[in-house]
Parts: sequence; structure tokens; C-alpha cells
Amino acid sequence: MTTTDTTTDLEDFRLRVRDFLARNAKRVDAAGDEESQDGETVDYLTGARVWQNSLFDAGFSGLSWPKEYGGQSLTMHHQRVFNEEANGYVMPSSPFMVTLGMCAPTLLQYGTEEQRRTHVPKMLRGDEIWCQLFSEPGAGSDVAGLTTKAVRDGDEWVINGQKVWTSGAHFADYGLIVTRTNPEVPKHKGITMFIVDMKSPGVTVRPLRQMSGGSGFNEVFFDDVRVPAANLVGEIDNGWMAAIGTLMNERVSIGAGGGGLGRGTGTAQFDRLAELATKVGRIDDGAARTELASIYVEERLLAILSERMRAGLKAGKAPGPEGSIAKLSGSELGRRVADMAMSLLAESGQAWTDGEDDSLHWAQTLLGSPGGAIAGGTPEIMRNILGERSLGLPKEPQVDRDIPFKDTRTN
Ligand SMILES: Cc1cc2nc3c(=O)[nH]c(=O)nc-3n(C[C@H](O)[C@H](O)[C@H](O)COP(=O)(O)OP(=O)(O)OC[C@H]3O[C@@H](n4cnc5c(N)ncnc54)[C@H](O)[C@@H]3O)c2cc1C
Repeated sequence: MTTTDTTTDLEDFRLRVRDFLARNAKRVDAAGDEESQDGETVDYLTGARVWQNSLFDAGFSGLSWPKEYGGQSLTMHHQRVFNEEANGYVMPSSPFMVTLGMCAPTLLQYGTEEQRRTHVPKMLRGDEIWCQLFSEPGAGSDVAGLTTKAVRDGDEWVINGQKVWTSGAHFADYGLIVTRTNPEVPKHKGITMFIVDMKSPGVTVRPLRQMSGGSGFNEVFFDDVRVPAANLVGEIDNGWMAAIGTLMNERVSIGAGGGGLGRGTGTAQFDRLAELATKVGRIDDGAARTELASIYVEERLLAILSERMRAGLKAGKAPGPEGSIAKLSGSELGRRVADMAMSLLAESGQAWTDGEDDSLHWAQTLLGSPGGAIAGGTPEIMRNILGERSLGLPKEPQVDRDIPFKDTRTN
């Protein structure tokens, strides 16, 4: 512990958090199922922004982030205390996950001082929402195969191409986009990242409908979109480094459940399932109890891993392959939780009447779980990363790694 991190300091902090939450936040049980799957409705978004503003203004946003960029420069112990107190309250944080979990850490690591000072405080306050413009119709798992082009024109770059599956693009103010700036070199080398204003002329956002019923992601078209040269993030043609940074942070964020926003203490899913088992009269059933216990253990392990990853990030350690463990096991756990809920709900998990919030919540959870497993890298890709980087297995053969991008079959 540091000098500012004494037990008294943490206790004072706990009381301040408790008081703030009691006055400003809604309890989960009182609020019904307010955490929208996609954060897509105008009311939900407005409410989420108001919430994030109040969190920031009260000094509870970006607890462990640097003060000069709007954070509080506090410790992971403060974050843990906040998480403990926030358990049981609605945290409408989903619209800020990409902003705070992926884009802000990328700017902190690769952005210019001006970009950090201009954007990060507004991101932490919820005044700016960002999206991540990486995937394309022909470049998902192999995002280095992207073909969206950026061409220099004086003090600007001109972007043409298409992105897809862009979460939150329909309400984002800015995006981090990766583009092809040099097709003469191998695919990982000619990539450049920019900040793009999503309201720029030439940007067209078209929502995609998901099987859960929501429209959380979009296809985004870029037609001669002009971006100032000052919006370059990192180095020209070396944007793959920054992109890897964003992807690593994404896995940590998805695995840790919330991009530095401080959500839950690691038993939220178990708590809700146990409540459901009690409601439907299955809490004394041996098989249900065994599955519940196993889910509890996995959820706690994931929470501990997340805490370790966040502490590592705060100590300046770049996110490593453990982000892939968190991402993989988080998505597998999500699927198990949804499956168990369906078995507890029996037929009312398939068909229900108005007011049966549990059924709606769990049906959406089930339908959203495959997407959750794919977002941020599929389970197969996570296993590849773990095989290569953690287990030291031979690398997958990559026939197009060392030839100019213009000569690859993708192109
Ligand atoms: C809910 C959701 C939100 C998303 N949000 C965003 C976002 O905000 N921004 C963004 O840029 N993207 C986003 N994505 C896109 C996501 O990153 C991609 O869907 C993902 O990387 C997979 O790419 P793909 O869909 O093109 O599938 P593909 O890469 O075409 O993969 C198809 C199948 O082949 C398998 N496969 C591919 N390569 C290999 C390999 N080398 N070894 C073994 N198996 C392999 C995959 O595992 C998968 O099963 C989102 C996706 C979802 C589902």
C-alpha cells in the first residue's frame, strides 16, 4: 500500500462511495432489467451519459487512471472497494465499454499528448463515446488483411472502404480506425491508425439486426472521408502495434467485464442464478447446487484474474496473453450461465408474458452469448494465441506474412 492508501483512507473512501451510490444509483432489484443488451435506445443512452457525468463529477470515474488525463490516480485497492460497494446497483456502463476499455487505453499508450489531453477526460466523463473500426467483411480474425485505404492529401488523409460489426457506431462521436496506407509492404507493416470524427461527411452508419433482437453493431462506409494529419495515432505504416494494443486491451476489458469502469465483485452471475434457482424451487436440488457451485468458483477465479490484470496494467505492464484466458473463459462461463438459467426456467425460458423480466433477461443472455464469444476474437483464435504465446507451440503457417500486401490473395 502507498501512503495515500492506508486502511483509514480506504474506509473513508468506502463511506463516500456508499453515500454516492445510495443517493445516485438504482438497486438492481428496484430497477428491473435496465441494463440494455446493446445500449441502443435513446433513453438508455441519455441515462447512461447522465450517470457517467455524475460518476466523473463526484470523482469516481477512472479511479486508477492518471490525474492529468481526468482520472483519480488512486490504487487498485480503491477500485476493489468501489466494486464491492457497487455490487447490487445498476451500472449503465455498456455504451462506454469500447471507449474506456479499448480506445482510451490506446490513446494513453500510442496517442499524442494533445490527443490524450483533449479526449481522455471527456471519455471518462461520458461526454465522448468512441467506437473501434477494425473488422471488415474480408478481415475479422485476420484483421491485418484489411483493405480500407487511407491516402495522404496535404495536411489530411482521405479514407475509403468499409468496416463491419462496429459496436456503438450509431451513437459514437469518434472512432479509432485502422487503414491500409502502404500496399507495397507485407500486410502487418503498411497499416496506420487514425482518430475519425464519426460525424464527418462521407461516413455512413447502417445498423445490423442481431438474433437477440437488438442492433448493437453496424456496418460503416467511408467515402472520401477527410481526416486531419494530426489525427494520426502512433506512426505511419506502423499502426499494427497500436492495433495489437487495442485488441489486447479489448480482451482484458471483455474478460474483466467493463473497461476500468469497476463492475461487480465476481459473483454477480452466480447471485442472479441462485436467486432464480430459489424462485423456481430448485435451490435444494443436488444437480443444480453442483452446477451453481462450479459457476461460483469459475466466476470468482475470473474476478481474481481480472484484478491481477488490472493491477498489472496500472503498474505499466502491457496486457499479455492472460487477456486471452480471461476472454475465453469469460465467454465459456457466459454460455454455461445462460444454459443453466434456461434449464431452470424450463418452458418459460422460451415463451413468457409481459412482466416476466427474468425470462426476458435470460433469453437475451442466451441469444447474446455466441456474439459475446466472437467479439474481440473467437474462441479458436484465443486458443491459437494461448497455444503459441503461453504454451510455446509452433506458430500457425502464414503463407502471406512476408509478401507485399498488393500480391496477397486477400487483396
Ligand atoms: C457482438 C460483437 C461485437 C463486435 N464489435 C466489434 C467492434 O466494435 N469493432 C470491430 O472492429 N469488430 C467488432 N466485432 C467483430 C469481431 O472482432 C469479429 O467478428 C471477429 O474477430 C471474427 O471475425 P469474423 O467475424 O470475420 O470471422 P472469421 O475471421 O471469418 O472467422 C470465421 C470462423 O473461422 C475461424 N477461424 C478464423 N481464422 C482461424 C484460424 N487462424 N484458426 C482457427 N480458426 C479460425 C473463426 O474462429 C470462426 O469460427 C464484433 C463482433 C461481435 C460478434
